[in-house]
Amino acid sequence: MSTILVIDDKIDNLISISALLNSLIKNCHVITAQNGRDGIEAVRLKNPDIILLDIQMPELDGFEVCKILKKNEATKHIPIIMVTALYTNVKDKIKGLELGADAFLSKPIEEGELVAQINVMLRIKRAEDKLREENKNLESEIALRTKKLTEEIKERKVIEQNLKKAIEQAKESDRLKSAFLANLSHEIRTPMNGILGFTELLLEPDLPEDKKNNYIRVILDNGEQLLHLINDIIDISKIEAGLIDTKFEMFNVNDELDKIFQSYLLTANQKKLTLLLGKGLPDEKSFIKTDRTRFRQIINNLINNALKFTHEGEIEFGYEPDGKVLQFFVRDTGIGIAPELHEKIFERFKQVDDTISKNYGGTGLGLSIIKAYIEKLGGEIGLLSEPNEGSTFYFTLPYNENLIQFSQNTHRLSNNHDRKNYTILIAEDKETNFNYLKEILVNKNIQLIHARNGLEAIEYCSTTAKVDLILMDLRMPVMDGYKARKEINKLYPEIPIIAQTAFSKEEDKNKALDAGFHAYISKPIKSTELVDLIQLLITRKKSNLVAEQ
Ligand code: ADP
Repeated sequence: MSTILVIDDKIDNLISISALLNSLIKNCHVITAQNGRDGIEAVRLKNPDIILLDIQMPELDGFEVCKILKKNEATKHIPIIMVTALYTNVKDKIKGLELGADAFLSKPIEEGELVAQINVMLRIKRAEDKLREENKNLESEIALRTKKLTEEIKERKVIEQNLKKAIEQAKESDRLKSAFLANLSHEIRTPMNGILGFTELLLEPDLPEDKKNNYIRVILDNGEQLLHLINDIIDISKIEAGLIDTKFEMFNVNDELDKIFQSYLLTANQKKLTLLLGKGLPDEKSFIKTDRTRFRQIINNLINNALKFTHEGEIEFGYEPDGKVLQFFVRDTGIGIAPELHEKIFERFKQVDDTISKNYGGTGLGLSIIKAYIEKLGGEIGLLSEPNEGSTFYFTLPYNENLIQFSQNTHRLSNNHDRKNYTILIAEDKETNFNYLKEILVNKNIQLIHARNGLEAIEYCSTTAKVDLILMDLRMPVMDGYKARKEINKLYPEIPIIAQTAFSKEEDKNKALDAGFHAYISKPIKSTELVDLIQLLITRKKSNLVAEQ
């Protein structure tokens, strides 16, 4: 159905043209308007397919109406046939065309011409409508695609940025690793040179006793330094491989901190630094369940750093209870750290700047290791520091007040110093290892028995009047430590047995405890640790207390 609008001020014209159209054009609906203004309104409301527009009308004449309709985006595409007087001059026609009119009809209207004009206009209009519709669809498709493309470009830009960042990180990490390797080789060579150099000096004949002792001390110090480095490297590889193992046990944090305090007193004094310890809970409440070895490692590491980077003043460490955690701290009055580096120093291989390693030594591993441990133990680490204002490192560990009850059943070792007349059986196949243990335990009123394998250990237990404690190597010929422990435990369940495990093999330690050993001690064995452990187990045995683990 096509809608045709006829605008004419003369009602007779309207009637006759409408009648003509209705009779001659198929499927058409004719609407009329008697002046320009009504005509424009009718166009707005009915959106006709063709307009037949009379030129001579009062107020708004045909030219004005045409001008208005052709200027309007919504109506400009509707074809307008201007109806002119018979002898309209050419100028009027040109004016009409210039204003956008599409065709002219002269009055009186000739039927055939009217039909032909209208049909042509309708065809053109339909074709144009179709084109417009397709155009619209195309435009919306283009808009959609443009939007998609813009999003894609945005995504690609993000990917590109991420890639750039990753490349930067890889480069930085490569740079750090190279610096780390160079640093590492320096860190290994320095103590190695010390060890080799002083060992050679030791070989000199007729060396006075005091010199000899000095050299040995240097060798020992350097050896410890190397051991420390190897430990760090093993730790970091384990952390990188996601293999951090922890063994939770209950212990008294005040006792542990006291021991740590004692062990650092001498070094602090030598550096003319005041060492302070702040214990935030009374002894009977200071029980914590965490990994004791890792705990020591964390505190030791922070105190070592504090000692390394402090040249005068004091170092204080300790803790404060804070709800469900204990907040530990190590505070120093040292060189401090710029705020922008507070996060960086916890990254692997990171030191504040490369000159640090030259001036102070170190590999930049310590803090990243303890951060991983603290997180594994359920805590967090942080730092407050300003350059030249000292540093306070703090970390939290979970604390449960209910563990306090435990203290009532706990035997306090520190009150008990009798270490007399014990018999200790050492099962150890290597003579040098036995001699080393003998050296440690000499002058302690301890009688030592040496078994060279597990079977001998069992035999000694049955032939010796009383064995108070056994130090059992795990790997021995004839019968290994695990088997021997099982047999001895069956016959003499009251004898505590300590496993001696190979250095740094955490799996061995756990395996030993799982197998039923009362405790383990790692090689190389530290004399104070061994003596303390022996004392602990013997006094426990005496007071018939169950081991706390
Ligand atoms: P490193 O073995 O090199 O000491 P760490 O991971 O323990 O490695 O420390 C990383 C860096 O953090 C150090 O090289 C040093 O620059 C800085 N740092 C750590 N502790 C302190 C401190 N107490 N005072 C000043 N700087 C520190």
